[in-house]
Amino acid sequence: MSDPMNVLVPEHRRLRIGDAWRDAASGATFVVEDPATGKTIAEVADADVVDGLAALDVASKAMAEWAATPPRKRSELLTATYRALTERSEEVARLITLEMGKPLAEARGEVAYGAEFFRWFAEEAVRVEGRYNTAPAGGYRILTVPRPVGPCVFVTPWNFPLAMGARKIAPALAAGCTTITKPAAQTPLTMLFLARIMEEVGVPPGVVNVVTTKRAGEVVSALLADRRTRKLSFTGSTEVGRVLLRQAADNVLRTSMELGGNAALIVCADADLDVALDGAMVAKMRNIGESCIAANRIYVEEPVREEFTARFAKRMGALSVGHGLDDGVDVGALIDEASVTKIDELVADAVNRGARVLVGGERPDGPGHFYPPTVLVDVPEDARMLEAEIFGPVAPIISFTSDDEVMAKANDTEHGLAGYVFTRDLQRALRFAEGLETGMLGINRGLISDPSAPFGGVKQSGIGKEGSHEGILEYLDVTYAAIDLP
Ligand code: NAP
Repeated sequence: MSDPMNVLVPEHRRLRIGDAWRDAASGATFVVEDPATGKTIAEVADADVVDGLAALDVASKAMAEWAATPPRKRSELLTATYRALTERSEEVARLITLEMGKPLAEARGEVAYGAEFFRWFAEEAVRVEGRYNTAPAGGYRILTVPRPVGPCVFVTPWNFPLAMGARKIAPALAAGCTTITKPAAQTPLTMLFLARIMEEVGVPPGVVNVVTTKRAGEVVSALLADRRTRKLSFTGSTEVGRVLLRQAADNVLRTSMELGGNAALIVCADADLDVALDGAMVAKMRNIGESCIAANRIYVEEPVREEFTARFAKRMGALSVGHGLDDGVDVGALIDEASVTKIDELVADAVNRGARVLVGGERPDGPGHFYPPTVLVDVPEDARMLEAEIFGPVAPIISFTSDDEVMAKANDTEHGLAGYVFTRDLQRALRFAEGLETGMLGINRGLISDPSAPFGGVKQSGIGKEGSHEGILEYLDVTYAAIDLP
């Protein structure tokens, strides 16, 4: 097939601000690399504060007209975006793989997932409602009027270059907000392509702006300090999330924070082991393990530990590693060298503390940022990988003997994004659902992401929800009117 870069002509590798595709005011650019080869694939504009504020300027000016655009019209533009993404799925998927490294089949899955946010929120756009009721003491009426919060700033990570932006842009537009998205510097191309698609389907200028930059700190803090910004939605690490929350506080911004995770996957002795194995493979290996909801710790009840571990290790060892665009590849390149080094250090730390490597564990030589699927057993409680986000294809297996014990271990983390439980006992499953401190739980399922379900964490994994009906509420303020009516 043709070069994936052909879909994004140089004209559209620039900043999308208002109706223009423009260079950074300074003329600066930065390069984007294919993580599987380390080769440069594109150069994009490197915005500074001047460009960021120019985007905010047009987003603020476009706000009144977009908010006043009939919901049905906004909805139709979102539907058109869904259709265009679906029709051009193969092009978008190849671009995702090229800049991010995931296998093409996974990139296709991300396009379907990302596009679905546009369809879902096209349906939500026409269902925004207020209410009217009699005050309990009588004498007046209470009317609530939902209103778009205003211009939104979005900061997104590299692991899902399309979907992490889509699940912010779609609800914001549905609610009547205008947007500025700063994609991750490692994967800016897919977001630029989305902006191009939205321009083509007729989304008005100023509603979807994209600012690519290597200077995230200064550009984003200038945007958050400006009184015209009314909302921050961030997806990324808890560490950066804390910094941005502090900055957002100075301007009292509405915030949605989708932060890091440390998911426990629990396999009970009564589980259907075929189901548990399928679920564990998805929960661990989807997106090469570079997912906030990836199973970071796999707890297996002692009676089935041996069988589960042997079968899981066999499946992990059978996965093929290579360039995501090549046929038959299950595990693509990790995002960068720092990521490979971090994972290698986490494995070495666990081994030094007594863990045993069943599969993988050796970083390969050669170009590209690869790490093999790895399974570790006898991982001691003080191993750093049980606390840190591994964010790669490494699975530590730990045995447990009672539900209280595993619940306490699973909850012993600052994170609370996702968890997974495999059991055929309904009461047991429900006790885990009530006891695990997570925003999301897969019960006999390794795949939980769904645009129609509320995605989000508790504890230091975040604030707010994306997707579902809750997703649009994040972009709406409510004005209440008291109406005198004796
Ligand atoms: P990251 O380092 O926190 O970066 C995320 C975004 O923030 C990038 O666009 C980055 O820009 C920007 N950024 C970095 N420092 C900044 C600063 N000082 N001010 C403003 N913006 C700044 O995270 P990542 O490595 O891209 O992504 C992995 C993390 O995201 C993991 O922790 C993962 O769990 C989390 N995540 C969470 C969810 C969820 O829904 N909860 C989903 C996906 C990922 P640059 O690219 O220029 O550094």
